[in-house]
Amino acid sequence: MSAADLQARLDAIVDRMRAAEDWGAVADYIPELARVPLRQFAIAVAPAEGGVAAAGDADVPFSIQSVSKIFALAIALGRAGDQLWNRVGREPSGSAFNSIVQLEHEQGRPRNPFINAGAIVTTDEILKGRAPRDALAEILGFVRAAAEDDDIYINDRVAQSENHHGHRNYALAHFLRAFDNLANAPELVLGTYFHQCAIEMTTRQLALAGRFLVGAPGLPRLVSTARIRRLNALMLTCGQYDGSGEFAFRVGLPAKSGVGGGILAIVPGRASVAVFSPGLDGYGNSLLGTVAMEQLARQMDWSVF
Ligand code: GLU
Repeated sequence: MSAADLQARLDAIVDRMRAAEDWGAVADYIPELARVPLRQFAIAVAPAEGGVAAAGDADVPFSIQSVSKIFALAIALGRAGDQLWNRVGREPSGSAFNSIVQLEHEQGRPRNPFINAGAIVTTDEILKGRAPRDALAEILGFVRAAAEDDDIYINDRVAQSENHHGHRNYALAHFLRAFDNLANAPELVLGTYFHQCAIEMTTRQLALAGRFLVGAPGLPRLVSTARIRRLNALMLTCGQYDGSGEFAFRVGLPAKSGVGGGILAIVPGRASVAVFSPGLDGYGNSLLGTVAMEQLARQMDWSVF
C-alpha cells in the first residue's frame, strides 16, 4: 500500500472516531490523569519499510503508563534471562490489572509481567544492584533508542500523583515482599515503577518505539528474534488485562494498553501501530483506541491468525 493510501485510511479513521458518541471515561484513580481532556484521538503506523504515517492528535504527548511494561520486560529479560520466570508467570490473569487476590493463591508469584504485581517484580529486577535513577536512565534510554528520538521524558507530576494515591500498588509490593519476591524496599521499587509508567510519548513516537518488536530488517534491533516472539506472545495473551481475549478476538494482534489511553500493537514482520484516546472501557483499555485498531486491522487484513 502506498504511503498516501495509508494516510487516507488513517485520516478516515480519525474522522469516524471524532464522530463517536461514547468516548469512555478517563482514568480517575490517578488525579493527574483525571485532568486529561477526554475528546482526543490519534493513530500512527510505522511500517517495516520505514517512515511513519500519523493522523489526529498524533503529536500530543500522553502518559504511556502500562505500555511501559513491554520496555521494562525486555530490559529485565536482558538482565536476568529466563531466571525472571521463577519470579513471575506467563499466564493470562483473567483479573483486573491491579488485582491482589490471585497473588495469594499463587504464593506471591504474579501471573504475568503485564499485570501490576508482575510489573512491580519486573521493575524490581531492573533495580537489582543499583539506584532508581540508574534503572530509570536505562528504561528511558531503551525507549529513546527504540523510537530513535531523544525528545522523550518522564512527567514527574504524574509519578508523584500516582505515588500519593498508589495504595493498591503499595499493598501489592508489600505482599510480594512478604512472599520474598521483592528484593528491594517497596518504596524504592514503586518510586521507580511510577516514574517508568509516567514516561510521556506522542502517538507517533510510540509507533516508532514499537518497531523493535516487529522483527523486520532495517528496524532498531534491541532484542533477539526469539525474544521478540516471546514478547509478542505475552502481549497477545496478557496485554489488555482481563480484556485480552476480547482484544485478540476483535483485533487479532499482539498489543499492550495503558490507562493513559495508549495502545501499542504489533503486526509481526509488517508494522508497529499506536493509538491514543484517553477514554477507557470497563477493562481499563482505550475504548476508541480498540475500535480504531479493530477497523484498521480489518481494512489492512492484518492478523496473526
Ligand atoms: N501506573 C498504573 C498503575 O500501576 C498503570 C496501570 C495501567 O496502565 O494499566 O496503576
